[in-house]
Amino acid sequence: MLWVAIAGLVATVVAVALAGRRVLFLYRLARLGQPAPERIEYAKQHVGAEIKTQLVEVFGQRKLLKWTPSGTAHFFVMWAFFILATVYLEAYGALIQGAITGRPDFHIPLIGTWPVLGFLQDFIAVAALLGLVAFTAIRIKNSPAKLGRGSRFSGSHLGGAWFTLFMIFNVIWTMFLFRGAAVNTGNFPYSSGAFASEAVAAILPTSEALEATGLLLHIGVMLVFLVFVVNSKHLHIFTAPLNVLFSRRPDGLGAAQPMRSGGKVLDFEEADPETDVFGRGKITDTTWKGFLDFYTCTECGRCQSQCPAWNTGKPLSPKMLILDQRDHAFAVAPYLLAGDKAGAGTGAENVPQDVLALLDKPLVGEEGVIHPDVLWSCTNCGACVEQCPVDIEHIDHILDMRRYQVMIESSFPSEAGVMLKNLENKGNPWGMSEMKRAEWIEELDFEVPIVDEKMPEDVEYLFWVGCAGALEDRAKKTTKAVAELLHIAGVKFAVLGPMEACTGDPARRLGMEFLFSMLAQQNIETLNDAGVKKIVATCPHCFNTLANEYPQLGGTYEVVHHTQLLARLVEEGKLTPITPIEEKITYHDPCFLGRHNKVYAQPRDIMAKVPGVRAQEMHRCKDRGFCCGAGGARMWMEERIGKRINTERVEEALTTDPDTVSTACPFCLVMLGDAINEKKNAGQAKETLEVVDVAQLLIKSIKQG
Ligand code: SF4
Ligand code: SF4
Repeated sequence: MLWVAIAGLVATVVAVALAGRRVLFLYRLARLGQPAPERIEYAKQHVGAEIKTQLVEVFGQRKLLKWTPSGTAHFFVMWAFFILATVYLEAYGALIQGAITGRPDFHIPLIGTWPVLGFLQDFIAVAALLGLVAFTAIRIKNSPAKLGRGSRFSGSHLGGAWFTLFMIFNVIWTMFLFRGAAVNTGNFPYSSGAFASEAVAAILPTSEALEATGLLLHIGVMLVFLVFVVNSKHLHIFTAPLNVLFSRRPDGLGAAQPMRSGGKVLDFEEADPETDVFGRGKITDTTWKGFLDFYTCTECGRCQSQCPAWNTGKPLSPKMLILDQRDHAFAVAPYLLAGDKAGAGTGAENVPQDVLALLDKPLVGEEGVIHPDVLWSCTNCGACVEQCPVDIEHIDHILDMRRYQVMIESSFPSEAGVMLKNLENKGNPWGMSEMKRAEWIEELDFEVPIVDEKMPEDVEYLFWVGCAGALEDRAKKTTKAVAELLHIAGVKFAVLGPMEACTGDPARRLGMEFLFSMLAQQNIETLNDAGVKKIVATCPHCFNTLANEYPQLGGTYEVVHHTQLLARLVEEGKLTPITPIEEKITYHDPCFLGRHNKVYAQPRDIMAKVPGVRAQEMHRCKDRGFCCGAGGARMWMEERIGKRINTERVEEALTTDPDTVSTACPFCLVMLGDAINEKKNAGQAKETLEVVDVAQLLIKSIKQG
């Protein structure tokens, strides 16, 4: 048995050395990235919560189990990796013990002969085998060859995925060969429990040579797999727990990250574009967490399958956005690590032209790693982040690249420039006079106090009206409905009127962080000077910015969306819808209310309280809701490629044959309203179909009563 041990151990040393070399390469490459001390700091300060997250997300596979068939298969295959580690312990024990004593009858001390362990090992191996069958069926059913762009695997490395399944299969069958042979030679540690190993033993001859062959094959397969894993997308086995550990909490949604340079939040008054990092212009502007995202992507395509841009024929796939950056990072890594970058920058003669071209390739550009059409197609809807089972933060990548394009390159869709100018000059995207912000109040038959420097003593909420809510005709209806409902319920509120300016959300989501910062600081000063504590907002973008982003700049308030407040008032009996609205209504989840802030229940609760309403969910709803197309500053850009996102959404709404479409966002209201009008003009929707805010439904039912 000595030669078996020598062969096994030599192979192990070689494989571990190869794998170790790769891991060192990955580590050094990530270290070329920007620091992200806040990720480590957060994890250190929330050890208990992080342990819980690991248990739920990594060991419990929460996100994957939402995709029932593939999630269940993955659950068993992943647990097989943990449990079958004990079989490898036994295999190495047998290898060494066989060399020393001549009998490879090793068992793990204390628990090594326990039948439960033997059963568990066999059970999980059989379950993993069934998991492989399920994966195979899923991959065949969703094959890009069959579904083309509609396949979530389109663009993924298919060969690597099939090889991975093949290697897991090899791990399992060699395990049963080794264990079955050991049962026959009397070297097996378990007298019962290992049902599958015993069944295999029944069909094998008794042979020590077969046992040694099985043992070497089992170890050899694992070693080949180990080297493959660290060189492939299967690296996520090791990096996923780390990526989950260092991801933003509670998820990569809600607040956009402040701009950082050298690990510190950028102070625009002191920033220097020559020395500071302004977003991401080259791959090494990515933080090490960004590199960890690259290493962790499993190429599963769940993000791609949910992306509204991808689903309407645009070139953006969140999966490919990560993979293209990863491939570029790997391509330039040898030169960067060898310090060739300096040579390339000075045009050194000994650097080949193709390497120079590679090193000088812009991260974003017509000839860049990421095409501008990809970058500007994103609506920041968050569907990719929500679905990613390994917590990759696509929006952070996109925003950082946009920031560089806007602030350093001045390169962005020209039509968005008008919006930026209007924000800068007038404090709203339409460039309207600030005096118009209070005009809607004149259409009410009660007084709405406008804050004059200080919030009046008896006022509980500041009603943040938002630019659309104050200036856009359709959104103004929601504003008036909410004001009336608060008035009826006896909630004291005031508005800022002309003192209110855009929260800065469209500027920030476009990448113009400087302008966002300016508007945010101005608003925070106004709010803090007025002594505002509680805010109610009708626009989910304002709501998200006020609640989640203003604290980054020193503005911390208790912020609610109007649907949250109204649902509570209905619950408390302060608002009682009486008049039936006998309509079938389908509710559209605004991304910045739903996915970004997890407000799914309250708008539905309000609708449920209105007598006569028959709610009908669309196929894509709640955390899988489909964007209207307006987020990520897309509201201010032309949609030239593919099908319009709002058209796609309205077509889905029409499949429920609704009398009304409801929502809870002024931008969704406009986008869906436009698409409905187009459908009406084409004779594809009934003339009476309209889109309304849930607040409008509620006031209709209350007022008519
Ligand atoms: S945020 Fe939405 S639009 Fe942007 S990449 Fe992700 S899924 Fe696509
Ligand atoms: S980014 Fe996440 S969801 Fe998308 S392919 Fe990679 S692992 Fe899957």
